[in-house]
Parts: sequence; C-alpha cells; structure tokens
Amino acid sequence: MQQNVWQSVLGELELTIPKPSFDTFLKDTEILSQTHDEITIGVRNVFIRNTVEKRYHEQIKQLLVKNGLTAPKITYVQKPSQGKKTVINRETTTPLNRTPISSSAVDDLLSSPSSAPTVHTNTLNPRYTFSNFIVGSSNDLAYSACQAVAANPGVKYNPLFLYGGVGLGKTHLMQAVGNEIAKTQPDSRILYISTETFVQDFLDSIRFKKKGFSTKYRNVDVLIIDDMQFISGKEKTQEEFFHTFNALHQNNKQIIISSDKPPKSIPTLTERLRSRFEWGMAIDIQLPDYEMRCAIVEAKASLSGVQLDNPTIEYLATNIKTNVRELEGALNQLLAYAEMRGVAPDASIAEGLIGSARQSRPQHVTPKQVIDKTARYFSLDSTEICSAKRDKHIVFPRQIAMYLLRSELHLSFPKIAQELGRKDHTTAIHSVEKIEKASKLDTILREQLSEIRERLYT
Ligand code: ADP
Ligand code: MG
Repeated sequence: MQQNVWQSVLGELELTIPKPSFDTFLKDTEILSQTHDEITIGVRNVFIRNTVEKRYHEQIKQLLVKNGLTAPKITYVQKPSQGKKTVINRETTTPLNRTPISSSAVDDLLSSPSSAPTVHTNTLNPRYTFSNFIVGSSNDLAYSACQAVAANPGVKYNPLFLYGGVGLGKTHLMQAVGNEIAKTQPDSRILYISTETFVQDFLDSIRFKKKGFSTKYRNVDVLIIDDMQFISGKEKTQEEFFHTFNALHQNNKQIIISSDKPPKSIPTLTERLRSRFEWGMAIDIQLPDYEMRCAIVEAKASLSGVQLDNPTIEYLATNIKTNVRELEGALNQLLAYAEMRGVAPDASIAEGLIGSARQSRPQHVTPKQVIDKTARYFSLDSTEICSAKRDKHIVFPRQIAMYLLRSELHLSFPKIAQELGRKDHTTAIHSVEKIEKASKLDTILREQLSEIRERLYT
C-alpha cells in the first residue's frame, strides 16, 4: 500500500523535476517503513540522501500529505544494497589492516625485472594534491568522496569509481588521495598505476612466466588504477583484475578506479567486474562551468606568481570550455608568451594567441544542434520543444534551449523565438532570464547546463 503511495508521489515528482535529476536522485527511492510518527525513505547513497533532503524534502512532504500519508517526521536513509555485499552501508570502522612494509617485500617489488611500476608512494606525482585542486559544482561530489576515502581508506567507499571526460581532473584527484594517505599514514603501501601498465604487466607475467605479479598488486593498502576503460576487450586481464580486486576488497584495502565512462558503459566489461565496480561509489566529474573556469584561471595564474586582471581571466574562461587541461594549457601559453616579451599578460595577448588557435579548430554549433541536443538530453523530440505544448516537462527544456541559444550562440531574442517557432520574443527574454537566475542558485541546473554544453562541443 505505502509503495503504491510512493509510486504516485514519484509520478508527480517526475512531472516537475528534470529527467536527469529525477533519475539520479529519486528514481530508485522507496518507503522503507512507516509508523505514526515517522516515514523512512530509502535512497541509494549518502550523497543522494543529502541532495534529496536539501532539495526535494518540501515537495516530498507535500506530496505525501496529498496522497494521504502523514507523519510528523520524514527521514532519509541509505538503502541496504541488493548485492551480496554492501559496501556503502557497511557500518564498519575497522581500520585498514596495515602491516608495515617489510624490506624483503620492498626488495621483491623493486627488483621486479618487469616494466611494471615500482610499488610505493613514489609512483605518485606530488604535484597532485587536494590543496591545489579547485572545487566547484562540477566536481564537488568527487572531491568530497575522495577526501572521505583519504581520511578513512578502505572503510567507506570501496571501490571509489571516478568517471568523466578527459582533462577534468580524475588523475589529479585520485593521486591527491594517494598523496594525502602517504602523508598521514607514511607506512601504508600505495600503488598508483595506469590500467595500460597493469595490462602490459599481466601479459608479460604470462609471456615470460614472471613470478610475483599477483603479490605485487595484492600486497598494497591502496590500489589506485587509472583509465579503466582500457581494460575493455581484454578478457584475461579482466579476470586477473577481478581476483586482484577481490583479494584487496576482502581485506578492506582501498581501491580507487577512474574511467572515462561509468562502469555500465565500458564495453565488453564482464558482468561480475562491472557489478564490483558498482559496489562502492561511482561519481562523475563534469565540465567546469564559467565561474569555475574563472576560478581555475585565477588560481593557476597566482600559483605561478601572476595576478591577472578580470578581462583576461574572463577571456580565457569564455573561450576555453573544453576541459581544465586545455584551460591550463592556454594560460601557460599566455604566461610564457608574456614573459618572453617582457610584458604583462592581458586579454588582447590572450586573444591573439587563442583566437588564432581557435580558428584552426572548427567549432560551428548551429541553433538546430542546440535545440536537438537539449531535447535529446531531456529525452524529448526537438519537435516537442518547438511545439506549442505547455506541459511542464517540455516547458523547462524549452527554456533551457532558449537560454543556451543566447549564452552559446549570442542570438538575438527575436531570432531565438523564431528558432523555436514562436512569434513573440518576450517569452524568450523571460526564459533566458529565468534560467540565468535559477542557475545561480541551483547546482543541479548548472550541472545540467554544463552537460548539455559538453555534448554540444564534443
Ligand atoms: P583526467 O585524468 O581527468 O584526464 P587530469 O587529472 O590529468 O585529468 O587533469 C588535467 C590537468 O588539469 C591537470 O594538470 C590537473 O592538475 C588540472 N586540473 C583538472 N581539474 C582541476 C581542478 N579542479 N583544479 C585544479 N587543477 C585541475
Ligand atoms: Mg587521467
């Protein structure tokens, strides 16, 4: 009975909340219990719980009442996962079972004749730390999860799976975890490795009958393995990694994995490995929004001892939207050029440098593409967005499309109205203003906008 009520609450929420947010935060929720004074709603994990509590509580409360379910208190808890083993919900506080690294083990590892990386903290790049990582709405979940893992490795999110496009800070963040643990627990054995190296090392161990492969990977306290998408199609390596994973996980050793896509989208990943990747926490890093790009430019310049003026910062942040690595590259280019010429870096120099680079990279986005991609993002057809329909689930994406036509293509309001099949352009003005205002307050909306932008430019 209460589940029926919940289904109708969800049904109503679905009408007002954009689909990607609904799918992420609400779809998998359920009522776990109900008494006179408390309704308990189960959600998938702590981050989702925080968001649901913060953003949707009022709506949920009202809809429950509307559907005849009342209680003075509504609480949100993490659901026990359906898997055999529940990692996120595990109420364990067992510290990592850490044995001091023995010198023979070190020798063994160091003298390994393979091309494998040396096992120890020195596989980490000390440049990647939490303190020089800039946090914004596109990466704050990933950042918090990484901090939680660094504070308590092996306890909470295991594995921690970070995914997202290139140059968005995955390697930086996961190495920051390693560097932090190395600092606070100097005797822990931390191995950072790329998946490609793991694959190569495994193949070598078979081909040259080298011993010590499994001990090398299983005798660590923290395994950080980067770019897991490269394990795709490599069946034997997947099998080996499966056993490595289990051995570490069973001993509460922390595993951190990155990939350019979520576990479910890595092609030809065996089912059992995929399900293990989903045991812990999978979080994406998105494209930084404009404000964050400004923050990144400013912070990186000042790390190089240069104070940039606002127009210069804004020029870079406006013109480089692809990823942090490119933004950093453009900034470095600007700083190097200015230093070489003995002048102060400014917007016009940046324009000279970047403008010419941009011309060689065609980046023509048409109004039709903006409308199509926005529609597709919300699982709609572009004809629906351009129709006269006033349903909420269409109006919102339509407003977003108008906003993006303005912010990305700088179209005039009458032109925006025309692209969306409207005669009157006041709706366009109103929509753009509305989304502009809302995006200042609503991080989820900002994430959605940056996801659509990402799809536009890739
Ligand atoms: P990925 O592994 O996702 O491809 P990287 O971690 O290699 O990306 O990041 C690319 C570059 O951008 C690195 O130099 C990294 O330090 C920098 N970077 C990415 N995100 C941030 C951030 N939020 N703050 C500071 N630097 C960042
Ligand atoms: Mg990387």
